[in-house]
Amino acid sequence: MADVTLENITKRYEDVTAVDDMNLDIKHGEFVTFVGPSGCGKSTTMETIAGLTTPTEGKVIIGGRDVTNLPPKDRGISMVFQNIALFPHMDVYENISFGLRLRKYDKDEIDRRVEKAAEVVQLGGMMDRMPDEMSGGQRQRVAIARAIVRNPDVFLMDEPLANLDAKLRVHMRTELQRLHKELDTTIIYVTHDQAEAMTMSDRIAVINAGQLQQIDPPLVCYNEPQNLFVAGFIGSPSMNFVEGRITDNGFNSDDVTIPFNPAAYNLSTGADVTLGVRPEDVFLSRNSREAADPTPPLTAYTDVLEPMGNEIFAYLKFDEEAESDMEKGIMPGQLLISVDPDTAIEEEQEVEVVLDRAKTHLFDTATGNAITHQIAPIDSTGAGGADAEVGSDD
Ligand code: ADP
Repeated sequence: MADVTLENITKRYEDVTAVDDMNLDIKHGEFVTFVGPSGCGKSTTMETIAGLTTPTEGKVIIGGRDVTNLPPKDRGISMVFQNIALFPHMDVYENISFGLRLRKYDKDEIDRRVEKAAEVVQLGGMMDRMPDEMSGGQRQRVAIARAIVRNPDVFLMDEPLANLDAKLRVHMRTELQRLHKELDTTIIYVTHDQAEAMTMSDRIAVINAGQLQQIDPPLVCYNEPQNLFVAGFIGSPSMNFVEGRITDNGFNSDDVTIPFNPAAYNLSTGADVTLGVRPEDVFLSRNSREAADPTPPLTAYTDVLEPMGNEIFAYLKFDEEAESDMEKGIMPGQLLISVDPDTAIEEEQEVEVVLDRAKTHLFDTATGNAITHQIAPIDSTGAGGADAEVGSDD
């Protein structure tokens, strides 16, 4: 059993806290992905697990053993990195078996392990190939096979697909999932690509500025983000945010009014809150039957339209005269929505939109913490939807 536990891991460099009091509990057999923007501390966290760096504070426990001060080779881990460093003058067999030969394993044992690993990554029949005769994907598979032959308890993979082209990356994602199933091993994976994280992981650990923001299954991170950072980072295109305040009757900003009972969410009048809604949860009100529980309609104006084939991204603005700046992404007063590709919609057109209440989030603007992931209408129940409140024990 190779559970991996981080206890209060902090890693400080001179003036940077790369990892800030990280606590994680990864179970044997889990596929956990560290995701977050560049520089957030993903690799440093991984390096403390690997033993490539010593934490300033805290403990690393693998399979019940405190390994904080053990060298990498004694931790029962194998690593695969972004830069596939194969030995150019060695063929596939020699590359995969290199570590075992170095450790003077028996020839039969080496052959047995190499054969099995090659089978898992589907490189059988290529044992004599040299690295320069292989594609990027094949070379990456050699690197993975080299990690497999060591029979690790835990695989650590740091952006292993980053240098592959888009199509191959998608293919390798499926391969890694298959590998995970076949090997019944713990995989800890680092990526800045949230799509990669969403598709492969049992759980995603979202990290920002060295701090763990949320660790949950991908769809929980997507549907119930614990704070503004997770809400904005997970999902592409990103969630729309509208800053506003609580009135006696619900949410109000310059552009958006959503009636609900603030008391149902323990909100007081005047509180600064940010409303969040994903592009696919806003509907043209002529299509509002698509929203399970629509808000009253809001008037907006279409700006840029981006037909994607399977959907159209429509940038809406609330002020008809506003000039958009596509370089800056979604601006305050703008709303990105996704509509069906057959929708009759034109640029510079007045439209009415509704939000799906069941998919509309509220966050505390000051702390960023989620308040609720759905907003009940005032008249639906006497309680006004307290069930939806974050942290309720139901
Ligand atoms: P990520 O993998 O998420 O891109 P890193 O873990 O590589 O982030 O880096 C986290 C922070 O720690 C960054 O600000 C980075 O500049 C800093 N950092 C990483 N390694 C070192 C180092 N050896 N010396 C000083 N600062 C470092």
